[in-house]
Amino acid sequence: MEQQTTSHLLIEHVDLLDPQAPRGIATDHSIWIEGNRIRRIAPASALNVSTLIQSGVRGNIEVINGRGLFAMPGLVNAHTHSPENYMRGATECMPLEPWLVWLYGTCGEYTARDHYLCAAMSAVEMLLSGVTASLDHVWHGGAWQREYLDAAMQAYRDAGIRAAVAPMFDDHDYVLDVADALGHDLRGSVYGQSHGGYRPDRDAYRRAVLHDTLAMLDEWMRDWHGSAEGRLQAFLGPAAGQLVTEECMQASLALARKHGAGVHMHCVETRVQDYCIRQVRGKSLMQWLAEIDVLTPELSLPHSVWVRDPADLDLLAARGAVPVHNPAANLKLGSGLMPMRAMLDRGITVALGVDGACSSDNQNLFDAIKLAALIHNLNHHDPKTWITAREAFEAATLGGAAALLLRDQLGALREGWLADVVLLDLNTPVLAPHNDAFGMLVHCETGQSVRHVIVNGHVVVRDRQLLTLNAAELVAEFTERARALPFRQPLDAKTQDDIARCWRFWWDVMTRVTRSE
Ligand SMILES: [Zn+2]
Repeated sequence: MEQQTTSHLLIEHVDLLDPQAPRGIATDHSIWIEGNRIRRIAPASALNVSTLIQSGVRGNIEVINGRGLFAMPGLVNAHTHSPENYMRGATECMPLEPWLVWLYGTCGEYTARDHYLCAAMSAVEMLLSGVTASLDHVWHGGAWQREYLDAAMQAYRDAGIRAAVAPMFDDHDYVLDVADALGHDLRGSVYGQSHGGYRPDRDAYRRAVLHDTLAMLDEWMRDWHGSAEGRLQAFLGPAAGQLVTEECMQASLALARKHGAGVHMHCVETRVQDYCIRQVRGKSLMQWLAEIDVLTPELSLPHSVWVRDPADLDLLAARGAVPVHNPAANLKLGSGLMPMRAMLDRGITVALGVDGACSSDNQNLFDAIKLAALIHNLNHHDPKTWITAREAFEAATLGGAAALLLRDQLGALREGWLADVVLLDLNTPVLAPHNDAFGMLVHCETGQSVRHVIVNGHVVVRDRQLLTLNAAELVAEFTERARALPFRQPLDAKTQDDIARCWRFWWDVMTRVTRSE
């Protein structure tokens, strides 16, 4: 199907999100979109087809009748892993470390078509629920091939969503080093083997793999970064702070800067990670990143749950990296609660993500927004630390834009900014009677009021129908393919033993951590 192109798009007589207006709602306005930018926002009486023609606008003007609709900026899902879509709803809640062993032991080897299907399914779910941009920290259970990355990019190109794809890679697992020191054999597990395991030539192997991976990614970025009218970005995704060397981080940042792209890396998601990093490096992850000079605004840091020392928070604020809150995944894996208030108080821009569909388990950012606005109330002794509806919503819009390196270009309805606009049907039981804009967007909306979606000036969802992909055919193929994957089979004895070993390691570390408190 052809994506509908629109050079001039006028949304007339719409109510829209305006934090300065009473209840945050500016009524009966028009939004004029030219190309991929919002050109003008004004009361409908002053901005309509007649005034546009009088002002010299030529060519076809597509008009959307906005009566009964509410315009908001498109949501930005600033952290996900599309390959996990096959495993949605497949696991019980469990800590990240044994969960990772299960994932490595059962995901199997994906084809390029699998990567296409998983990315496309993310895009379909997100667009239909008001997410117009995504940062996909894409992984592969084995060595990267260029065709896998091309397939994911092609899916986002076909879907019409804005997306940054950050392929995950790593070059040294410091958790395995700590496990060795504590007498736990994780290297022989499926998890350890995929991180170098027992290889005697580990360091030479690490350097060769890193070199080859970055060379491949350099070409991939050259071909894709900024393509599809700037809608697609090719980022670098060093996997996590406990899985990378200084060489890996510095080379990643240098390559990202060569292409004007970003770097996306998991950041102390769990206490076990924080413990291992401090044991091996003798300092916190923030201190290490700052010392090797990679803690910069180009770096986005999903989770950042265990960035808690005031000195670390100050470093994060001073250097301008963007932490990404993933409340659903943090709850499912029991990782902890990101110190969002302490970050906002320091002027740190916080983004919001859903994380992969094996840990959260849908791709609906409205769920994440609501959780972000509620979960911090667990700090019941201090209501000053709670997150307001506006703060949660802005993490999902302006914060996500910062993670995509689109600060001051994306994330609000403003003249001159990118035209990613979602139109909600106001006359639903969910949103009526429209008491307060941020209240209804954060505490009421579930995604079911999404009526039209515009990305980069193009209408991609009209009357709740995706115009770009055949969602029904994709779901059928995706479901058929999932039946053949190993995670649907009973666990084999080796994987069960690997998971049990990891549990023992997890208990050991957590006992040490809590004993020292
Ligand atoms: Zn993640």
